[in-house]
Amino acid sequence: MKNIAILGSTGSIGTQTLAVAREQGDIKVWALTAGKNIDLLEQQIREFGPKLAAVWDEADAARLRLRVKDLPVRIESGMDGLIDAASMPGPDMIVTAIVGMIGLRPTVAAIRAKKDIALANKETLVTAGHLIMPLISEYGVSILPVDSEHSAIFQAINGEAENQVSKILLTASGGPFRGKTRGQLAHIRVEDALCHPNWSMGKKITVDSATMVNKGLEVMEAKWLFGVELGQIQVVVQPQSVIHSMVEFEDGSIIAQLGTPDMRLPIQYALYYPYRRPLSGKRLDFFALGNISFEKPDTDTFEGLALAWRAAGRGGNMPTILNAANERAVAKFLDGKLKFLEITQVIHECMENCHYIEHPSLDEILETEQAVYEWIESRW
Ligand code: NAD
Ligand code: MG
Repeated sequence: MKNIAILGSTGSIGTQTLAVAREQGDIKVWALTAGKNIDLLEQQIREFGPKLAAVWDEADAARLRLRVKDLPVRIESGMDGLIDAASMPGPDMIVTAIVGMIGLRPTVAAIRAKKDIALANKETLVTAGHLIMPLISEYGVSILPVDSEHSAIFQAINGEAENQVSKILLTASGGPFRGKTRGQLAHIRVEDALCHPNWSMGKKITVDSATMVNKGLEVMEAKWLFGVELGQIQVVVQPQSVIHSMVEFEDGSIIAQLGTPDMRLPIQYALYYPYRRPLSGKRLDFFALGNISFEKPDTDTFEGLALAWRAAGRGGNMPTILNAANERAVAKFLDGKLKFLEITQVIHECMENCHYIEHPSLDEILETEQAVYEWIESRW
């Protein structure tokens, strides 16, 4: 029996984690948390019977408490609810399927409570990799990647512990606007940006894929997870999204992981590592696929990727400045308050103007987030 808790159970990764739990039948779900969707959370509580559930607002928690008063489940709210779900006795592993750097404090709490982390919430590593990775070693827990590229890399280095990785080839679909010019991107609507060619995901990461900021965040995620230098990471556009990433070793051998674009596979691999389990769904058909093609990323058009490289190179709180600016800019784009190309403009301006700290503590990371939000509100 696997014992887990899910932060962000009503989202794309959260619901697919529960789909894996449903299919496998030997996962006990101790806690579920969500932002606002109490209808779906109630259904999940009824199906999976967690001991604890949490939502963001206390008003929603009060409504949910009434709805599930026939069940032995405790309902909490806010950051305390997230931290309780992440650190309660029972689960051995916390699936961080929450979106944004709000996942940072619960992830730290989970590690301190000696839980393994199945990490989807990449924003946590992007902003605080320098604190999270040492904490992982200090508490002797494991961090298992859920992001498909990082799962691919993790699978490719399996059993290669003694061998040096010379390069990580991080694949990218290029998103829905691959091949377009900046002129064409000027009038992108929200619904265009939400149409990813290969993956069905939450709104924020779908927009991040369209700007290619997502790939920049993934470069930083890979750097922390696999302890490589930035110069050892290369982004390779592979539009069919069947090669999920590759690793080149010192002898020039390259190991790739392939499969259909289905997040349940990396989720299941993280949950059961080192074991593989049967998984329903389509298999890759090379004859139907015909071709796998490769391109260089266009960092002139997709400035987000270039900005992320720059933030990663600078280090300190610069990745937090980039990430916080991106979170707020994407939210404003989704609200119709910013144009598509303004997302990277906001990030750029924040990186130029917000206060740089070389070795930020957890509090300084959270202060940087607030400072970036305030700066954006005063300016945009
Ligand atoms: P999503 O928007 O579909 O789901 C996010 C979840 O977080 C929801 O359950 C939502 O209710 C919850 N949440 C949001 N704000 C909250 C708040 N203030 N308090 C409590 N809960 C809150 O997002 P997603 O696509 O599932 O992505 C989740 C994470 O996984 C992100 O970090 C993303 O980058 C990463 N990721 C996602 C995919 C994917 O295929 N969806 C792939 C790789 C990595
Ligand atoms: Mg990914």
